[in-house]
Amino acid sequence: MHFTTIARRGLMLVLSSPSGAGKTTLSRRLLAEDEGLVMSVSATTRKPRPGEIDGRDYLFVDEPRFVQMIGEGAFLEHAKVFGNYYGTPRSFVESELSIGRDVLFDIDWQGTQQLAQAMGEDLVRVFILPPSMQELAERLRKRAQDSAAVVQMRMSKAADELSHWAEYDYVFVNDDVEVSLARLKAILLAERLKRFRQHGLTQFVRHLLEGH
Ligand code: 5GP
Repeated sequence: MHFTTIARRGLMLVLSSPSGAGKTTLSRRLLAEDEGLVMSVSATTRKPRPGEIDGRDYLFVDEPRFVQMIGEGAFLEHAKVFGNYYGTPRSFVESELSIGRDVLFDIDWQGTQQLAQAMGEDLVRVFILPPSMQELAERLRKRAQDSAAVVQMRMSKAADELSHWAEYDYVFVNDDVEVSLARLKAILLAERLKRFRQHGLTQFVRHLLEGH
């Protein structure tokens, strides 16, 4: 068997969903099972939840620092979600894409719109729907890391996030983690093979035509 890797630019895989739809679990599994994919770690002014690690889950910064980073153009996109700022650091993403690595994003609809404007064809947008609102509420309660008031606010925001589903390229219901994971892998594979991403093809085909 002969395997050939054609040079290409990395793509940006965006996952959006209402909080509690299972996006974090899916992201972790996909990252663990796909060597060509890395996570974009966002900066936020939100306080860390128990178990969250600075630099792994988020870059936890205070508001003055976040505002300073906006001024420096350090973000590809940023938005206020649930009263806190969230933003995607620019330099990490740009360097990964340029070496052909794909980057995974867990960001909301506002950030996705900004990335679509700034990054165009690099972006592959996936929206994950919960099986039901009851299940969503249940998952948020079970998570139990946020106060009841915060859970309530997140439920009311879920409808807002959901209303943006039609702005995404791919949409599916997450009622089974394994099925959802297979769907994400299929999306990723098909997108990786899109002709326009594989800039090394011209050279490779020329090589073929020369009889190699
Ligand atoms: P959480 O506080 O539960 O970790 O995240 C709250 C929401 O903020 C989620 O919908 C998540 O997708 C979104 N989010 C996380 N990081 C970013 C980011 O860098 N930019 C934007 N626009 N949204 C983000």
